[in-house]
Amino acid sequence: MVVRGVEVKTSKIKTINSSRKNRNCDWCSEIIRSGDSYKYYFCFGEGTSVSMHPECFEAMENDPNNDPDHDEFISGYNPRGCNCGFDVGCCKQGGV
Ligand SMILES: [Zn+2]
Ligand SMILES: [Zn+2]
Repeated sequence: MVVRGVEVKTSKIKTINSSRKNRNCDWCSEIIRSGDSYKYYFCFGEGTSVSMHPECFEAMENDPNNDPDHDEFISGYNPRGCNCGFDVGCCKQGGV
């Protein structure tokens, strides 16, 4: 998988159909509620596991801001299901 232009060694992306507890999304920092579906993978290089809302995972994959200097995203840097970095004009925040 490539995150922001950098190849990251990860486990297979798993889709968990029903979360067993509330957990925070690693993309938007919002809660993934118990019973909700989410995406999960493990980063071998960093030894971290990542859980995301399915729409947040999609936003990460479609992130146009590939930046080789930043090999990882920052949790809470983007709104849920989007990769705009809280751009004021973003359609997902009640904009046009
Ligand atoms: Zn999320
Ligand atoms: Zn947005």
